[in-house]
Amino acid sequence: MKALSITRPWVELILRGKDVENRTWNTRHRGLFLLHAAQSWKSEALAFADMVAPDALVGLPTSRDDHPTGIVGVAEIASVCSNEMDEFGDGETWAPCRCGRWAMAGQYHWRLARVRRLPRPVPCRGALGLWTPPEDVTALVLAQLGQVAQ
Ligand SMILES: [Zn+2]
Repeated sequence: MKALSITRPWVELILRGKDVENRTWNTRHRGLFLLHAAQSWKSEALAFADMVAPDALVGLPTSRDDHPTGIVGVAEIASVCSNEMDEFGDGETWAPCRCGRWAMAGQYHWRLARVRRLPRPVPCRGALGLWTPPEDVTALVLAQLGQVAQ
């Protein structure tokens, strides 16, 4: 099982419906992965959400102390968009992609599906890239998944 470390509160926004993860790098991974909330706090996430999806901020705790770290949920990678796709197929006409309001220009758009929040975050250190958490951590996550609405 793979995991992706995501700074707070970006990861909370994913749990609230942000369906695109913007990354500078592509991945071939598809399907389930673990959402890891990293220690780092990026307040610009709140500013970005306020601009494109203020509804996602309703009820969102503003104090970083109220945002857990560790494995906080799971999601699936449905597809990845390179953002500079030629939608018209003529090799000349560029058009922005259709990944929606959360997609950032110049990034790979990891299109997420079936995002689920864990009832109880599982403490775990983060890492770069798509990484493999210790087996005991993955086991604690999978045990909780049975309790989460599918
Ligand atoms: Zn896109």
